[in-house]
Amino acid sequence: MTETIVTDVVIVGAGPVGLFTVFELGLLDVKVHMIDILSKPGGQCSELYPEKPIYDIPGFPLVTGQALVDNLLEQCKPFSPTMHYGEMVESVEVLGDATAPKFRLRTDAGEIFECKSILIAAGGGSFQPKKPPITGIELYEGTSVFYAVRKMEAFAGKKVLIVGGGDSALDWTLNLHPLAERVTLLHRRDAFRAAPHSVNAMRELVGNGAMDLLLGQVTSLKGQDGQLQGAAIKHDDGTTTEIECNVLLPFFGLTMKLGPIADWGLNLHENLVPVDTEKFETSVPGIFAVGDINTYPGKLKLILSGFHEGALAAQRVHRYVYPEKRLTFQYTTSSTSLQKKLGVA
Ligand code: FAD
Repeated sequence: MTETIVTDVVIVGAGPVGLFTVFELGLLDVKVHMIDILSKPGGQCSELYPEKPIYDIPGFPLVTGQALVDNLLEQCKPFSPTMHYGEMVESVEVLGDATAPKFRLRTDAGEIFECKSILIAAGGGSFQPKKPPITGIELYEGTSVFYAVRKMEAFAGKKVLIVGGGDSALDWTLNLHPLAERVTLLHRRDAFRAAPHSVNAMRELVGNGAMDLLLGQVTSLKGQDGQLQGAAIKHDDGTTTEIECNVLLPFFGLTMKLGPIADWGLNLHENLVPVDTEKFETSVPGIFAVGDINTYPGKLKLILSGFHEGALAAQRVHRYVYPEKRLTFQYTTSSTSLQKKLGVA
């Protein structure tokens, strides 16, 4: 049986706002476990615009999405949050009463958490893969068709067809080609959005005969009982050929959906979670929502707004975690607990 992980607070979502809230909670001695569906931290900043410059983070005239995330990780490191990547929080159960709430969360990886308070920092919700319009593709999903690579060894010795022209398609082409029996990359046209060094590496492999590059689109799949045997490919000149493959990895980008949060018993307004502007608590006492996922009059979906919300929510979360303790406000410049953790006191 899975052992329940008991902690003060679970933060759902490791985007910029969740990461900064770890820091704010750490200052108040609150222990955090953080869960994100993605395989890495950073939310939209890392997933959608890692190399774009952001100009409105106070004190940083210019910082890229990824550099901001790297700095936020460095900032919360002294408080050693436990990160759980590649897991989606599916359900939330209220255990205690409104005065002393307790919560149980379950993830799609089978992990169970119990905590005194929850912070939802889930942004636009969960990133969902955009699926290619191939009739019957769902018959192969999870057995031969995958929208993310969780374990590379699963593709050892397989004939892998990767579709797409962005960073994910190119990265997995380069990573899987030494393991797979054969990798074929298929893209609509001979121009790629991926980083130029990945494209060059891929072209070198094609030139050496170590993998195949095809231009066109998958029109149908062939196989039985979820086991893929081949794919029909329509080329630019109108001809169709069939290639052998056991695995199809389409990388067509991601969209965001609210996902399971809709079923957690919270009041919702147009797929957002309404909160008050004093403590950013939801309709369920003990559950808070910060960052892009929340709504209130005048809300601006900006990273700096989420940072403010996280700082205020942390003050109230402290009361649920330490009901007997009075909180004294302290600047970080005079926080001895932070300075001890940083080794400067
Ligand atoms: P997100 O960054 O969306 O992170 C939420 C995380 O929660 C995700 O990683 C997701 O996987 C995870 N999650 C969701 N549901 C679950 C679940 N059930 N279980 C586990 N994990 C879950 N803002 C600015 O301030 N300045 C800018 O210049 C700027 N430029 C932008 C440019 C682009 C192209 C885009 C797309 C956005 C830009 N933004 C900008 C907006 C900014 O990125 C968002 O406001 C910010 O990312 C919100 O942070 P967040 O932590 O609330 O959510």
